[in-house]
Amino acid sequence: MSEPLIIVGNGMAATRLVDELTSRAPGRYAITVVGEEPSTAYNRVLLSSLLAREIEDGDLELKPQSWWDERRVSIVSGRQATAIEPKRKVIRLRGGTQLSYAKLVLATGSEPIRLPLPGADLPGVQTFRTRTDVSVMLQRATGKLRAAVIGGGLLGLEAAYGLKKAGAEVTVVHLMDRLMERQLDAPAAAMLKSALEALGINVLLNAESVAVQGRRKVGGLRLADGRVVDCDLVIMAAGIRPRAGLARLADLTVNRGIVVDDQMQTSAADVYAIGECAEHQGICYGLVEPAYEQAAVLADHLAGEEASYAGSLLATNLKVSGVGVFSAGDFMGADGTEPIVLSDPEHGVYRKLVVADGRVAGAVLLGDTGDALWYLDLIRSRASIAAMREGLVFGRAFCAEPDPACEPRQAEAA
Ligand SMILES: Cc1cc2nc3c(=O)[nH]c(=O)nc-3n(C[C@H](O)[C@H](O)[C@H](O)COP(=O)(O)OP(=O)(O)OC[C@H]3O[C@@H](n4cnc5c(N)ncnc54)[C@H](O)[C@@H]3O)c2cc1C
Repeated sequence: MSEPLIIVGNGMAATRLVDELTSRAPGRYAITVVGEEPSTAYNRVLLSSLLAREIEDGDLELKPQSWWDERRVSIVSGRQATAIEPKRKVIRLRGGTQLSYAKLVLATGSEPIRLPLPGADLPGVQTFRTRTDVSVMLQRATGKLRAAVIGGGLLGLEAAYGLKKAGAEVTVVHLMDRLMERQLDAPAAAMLKSALEALGINVLLNAESVAVQGRRKVGGLRLADGRVVDCDLVIMAAGIRPRAGLARLADLTVNRGIVVDDQMQTSAADVYAIGECAEHQGICYGLVEPAYEQAAVLADHLAGEEASYAGSLLATNLKVSGVGVFSAGDFMGADGTEPIVLSDPEHGVYRKLVVADGRVAGAVLLGDTGDALWYLDLIRSRASIAAMREGLVFGRAFCAEPDPACEPRQAEAA
């Protein structure tokens, strides 16, 4: 008989787990996925493209209903799990239903941080995480809309780009002295800022938001230096927090995220966590690739195979507001490393490779990111670059005949 396995959260990590597990151990588990959002899992990464009107809502679907049916997965949509009882091995759903499990997987993702500013509860202040958030933004984004986006990280810039494309006047308000400081060094960030400004997006750096102004709705965003950004919409994109409330209530070990070991097991027997809600060796990842790597390890483990998660290499490879951005590894360069830099601001191209002990330890690419996966593979494989160092910064085409001993493995899709 199939063992009951419940996954809480019907997001990207959950879908990947079902995919991996049903191919490794078909029929071994009777899987139920409980999700609070009204639809089955969708591709959250594509929300930025949906906001920019580059795709339709239907393009977000990860798997059609027939895919879930073929795997005999029961989907409970629009229902929130409200409690776990690890001793009785049951979970409770809002409305009172109880479900028993043999194995439980928490894949509850993250929530956007809502800054506790005065006025933050006014209509017109919102976050950017779900399909519903995007549909609200699209309804409001007309030529007359003035939007302030708090946060110059990936999500903030994606929101700014989408709103701008929809015709709004957009200002990004960022606390730090450069955009995307977790992924970019100063020259790359400066080039990205110029690219955004060329699109007509205003960017304010070193700018601290202190209050949302307005009586019944948003009228402006006040900054610490006294300036006010006139706006009718404020998007808070100032970071995310793992959704660990359920685990905390059930007395599982939680730091920032739900603490897991190398098999993605939490502190409770037969309860696992993967994706953005999980914390492994002190790290909560906010990207989809680590979630997929964790799902693969857990699928192996649940299928009875040996598997161990050793952490993921932090890499970002995407388009931000239409500009290619890649960064991975030690892109800032620790003491004792050497940078190799190619910079062409007029054409919006920047490449920095950080070399340590004759190997690539990190990289930042802005503009042309065609060789990103090749560089990522060099970082991952720790291949010697002795034979290709001269042409390295120009890309793979300039390193066509490296010493075979130095040839990196074929790049994987990131
Ligand atoms: C706009 C946007 C753009 C992004 N772009 C990129 C990108 O370019 N590259 C990249 O790598 N990553 C990107 N990300 C991040 C990426 O989407 C996440 O890393 C990924 O979705 C994490 O998957 P997850 O399954 O852990 O969480 P999620 O996909 O968030 O799924 C978690 C699900 O669990 C549900 N849930 C939570 N608690 C409960 C409960 N108690 N009961 C029932 N259901 C519950 C949530 O509602 C949600 O549906 C982006 C994110 C956003 C918002």
